[in-house]
Amino acid sequence: MDSTGKAPQALEELISQAEAAGASDIHLAFEPDHLRIAFRLDGELAPIEKLPLDEGERLCGRIKYLARLKTYQESLPQDGRISREELHCDQDLRVSTYPTIHGEKIVLRLFNQSIVRPLSELGLPAETVAALQNALRANSGLILLTGPAGSGKTTTIYACLRHLTESAGRHVITVEDPVEQTLPGVMQTEINEARGLTFAVAARHLLRQDPQTLVIGEIRDEETARVALQGALTGHQVIATLHAGSCRGVFDRLLSLSADAYAATSTLRLILNQRLVRTYCEKCNGQGCPECFTTGYRGRQPIAEWFAVDDTIRERLHREGVQVIQPSPTLGESAAALETSGRTHQAEVDRVIES
Ligand SMILES: [Zn+2]
Repeated sequence: MDSTGKAPQALEELISQAEAAGASDIHLAFEPDHLRIAFRLDGELAPIEKLPLDEGERLCGRIKYLARLKTYQESLPQDGRISREELHCDQDLRVSTYPTIHGEKIVLRLFNQSIVRPLSELGLPAETVAALQNALRANSGLILLTGPAGSGKTTTIYACLRHLTESAGRHVITVEDPVEQTLPGVMQTEINEARGLTFAVAARHLLRQDPQTLVIGEIRDEETARVALQGALTGHQVIATLHAGSCRGVFDRLLSLSADAYAATSTLRLILNQRLVRTYCEKCNGQGCPECFTTGYRGRQPIAEWFAVDDTIRERLHREGVQVIQPSPTLGESAAALETSGRTHQAEVDRVIES
């Protein structure tokens, strides 16, 4: 950044650099003698530059001014937004400030408003896409997804919804936290816990809105689990995520939140557990270069394990329980295959599988 540059220009340059790099977030953190700037690239933080304190303060002041935050307020967290027009950039920004012992930390989230990708363009193996399409074809039942934050499951759900609205013209209702992309033809709601609109409260009223497909961003409690199962049992298609580390873990988690194991087993159609693995930068093949901000990585490849339930499997699930759930290939096997093909490092595979 040009040290003589004015803050407005410096900020615009920083945002356009982040957009060109494909960053999802920009982190600005004050340390005792400088402001440290980092980009989140392919899910990981990469250091970008350090600014002298006075320049850093002007830059952060500009951000807070544009986001209509109290510029003098540094001791309490604040949230705001900056529209893309104000910065002459491609994406809206969500601004979040947080007090630390060295001063404020600011995180800028870049909202990627690109078109929702179709299932076939997510980079998932053809068999996985076919399993998803097959489960989506059914008019009722449960489709469960899992994976930690940043594993790509939201992108997969959006691709599923695009498939449903385009190919089947379904009436789809979602409850999300937050709504990351807007989908034409889908009734989307964002939960707001501060105002009392939780997943459970929204879910309670959802079924009365007469959906064919309902998407529950996350099943976190017994009440939401009950609504999901009730919906699936009464002829609705229900797509939901639960926090777990494996296909079997997802179903275990659902059973722990529900008293009705029979309903859960009767309505289950598909479980998908996915991760995003960073793949080598094509310019330097993993060595690190300016193009990839010396990380060695550029882009991510989804890997997934899934388990589809047909009548035969369902019978066994009723009789034998969750041990029947054995996806093939497993997540670990898919990750190992990616490493063997020379597209990523063993350390990245370990990081992703352990998360
Ligand atoms: Zn590179």
